[in-house]
Amino acid sequence: MDFEVAIIGAGVVGLSIAAKLSKDYNLVVLEKNLKFGQETSSRNSEVIHSGIYYPKNSLKSKLCIEGRKMLYSYCEKNEIPYKKCGKYIFATSENEISKLDEILANAIQNGVENARKISLEELKSSEPNVSAVAALYFPESGIIDSHSLMKNFETETNNFGWQIVYNSEVVAIDKIEKGYKISVKEENSTFSFTSKIVINAAGLYSDKIAEMVGAFKPEYKLYYWKGEYFSVGNGKNKLVNSLIYPVPNAQVSLGIHATIDLNGGLKLGPNAVFLQNKEVNYSVDKNNLKEFYNSAKRFLPFLEIEDLFQNQAGIRPKLTNNPKEFRDFIIKNETEAGFENFINLIGIESPGLTASIAIAKYVAQILI
Ligand SMILES: Cc1cc2nc3c(=O)[nH]c(=O)nc-3n(C[C@H](O)[C@H](O)[C@H](O)COP(=O)(O)OP(=O)(O)OC[C@H]3O[C@@H](n4cnc5c(N)ncnc54)[C@H](O)[C@@H]3O)c2cc1C
Repeated sequence: MDFEVAIIGAGVVGLSIAAKLSKDYNLVVLEKNLKFGQETSSRNSEVIHSGIYYPKNSLKSKLCIEGRKMLYSYCEKNEIPYKKCGKYIFATSENEISKLDEILANAIQNGVENARKISLEELKSSEPNVSAVAALYFPESGIIDSHSLMKNFETETNNFGWQIVYNSEVVAIDKIEKGYKISVKEENSTFSFTSKIVINAAGLYSDKIAEMVGAFKPEYKLYYWKGEYFSVGNGKNKLVNSLIYPVPNAQVSLGIHATIDLNGGLKLGPNAVFLQNKEVNYSVDKNNLKEFYNSAKRFLPFLEIEDLFQNQAGIRPKLTNNPKEFRDFIIKNETEAGFENFINLIGIESPGLTASIAIAKYVAQILI
């Protein structure tokens, strides 16, 4: 075998796995783009989630809570910019208050630390410009510079002598005795190599990679849901200090919320637009401006429509086209299907950034 481990995809998940496995395996990472993190990993809210909403014992819940703690210590140790700024969830009308109770109960059951109801006086002292009738506070939530995180994972991998090979698209995978043959398209040529273990961290294309080798089931099919953002300008970005979320209305999205970033920016989003034809297009539809404004005005009353500007978009690789259905991360060694040490990571949507270090630990544990 040429390598012990081949990782497909240099997003935050593939890179975190590479950094984790670097000291124990000889490995290579293949990435079709010219740089790391050009897809979902650089098109998200950069929020370090607490783990509030997911069903207890789901991988999303466990890996988010464990990953969040690991991420904060990793940031400290490696000087990666982050801020534990806290998050509020607001009820903006009386009939949303019971929903807050449900969210708090779920968070406590999941083991989210220090989650609590706060009084409106307390809320006003930290977020004087926000309007709400009741609120929850989650002090463990934060924001992170995801580019620095990925850069650090890459450097760790390189320091062990392993490469992230860019401009290299995996186009075929064959099961061979004791491993896999991987064919890669590079510019105008194709080459192949062998690896004992293959880790499919290909994000939006992870179902296609599973199909290439035959380690695919109908429930692995991905659906694309776009999330657009509008930024808040005209100086009003300074009127919010933390993460401001309304009560969520569906599984597909947490509702249009307000997130701060490490550069003093404030953005609204993401919304959730189902991409019927799965076309990957990161434009932001200016016709959605009104929807963003109306949603956010409920809890950010200082906003005027002229304060909103088209910003960025990302695409969620979701395992369902039903906005109300919960689907967990798929992280599986496909041994039972006859593909020993072919590891599928499919449907790694939010909280994949928060969970990335815990996902890498989990993957290391399921290798044979
Ligand atoms: C709108 C939005 C907001 C989000 N907000 C948050 C948040 O605030 N907090 C949070 O924790 N999570 C958030 N997430 C989720 C988080 O961004 C993802 O879970 C995470 O980035 C997934 O990383 P990844 O490495 O699996 O995928 P990706 O970043 O998509 O990386 C996959 C890589 O595989 C490569 N690839 C694909 N096919 C091939 C091939 N054939 N050959 C070679 N390379 C290939 C791609 O080029 C890509 O670089 C959000 C997601 C979205 C869409």
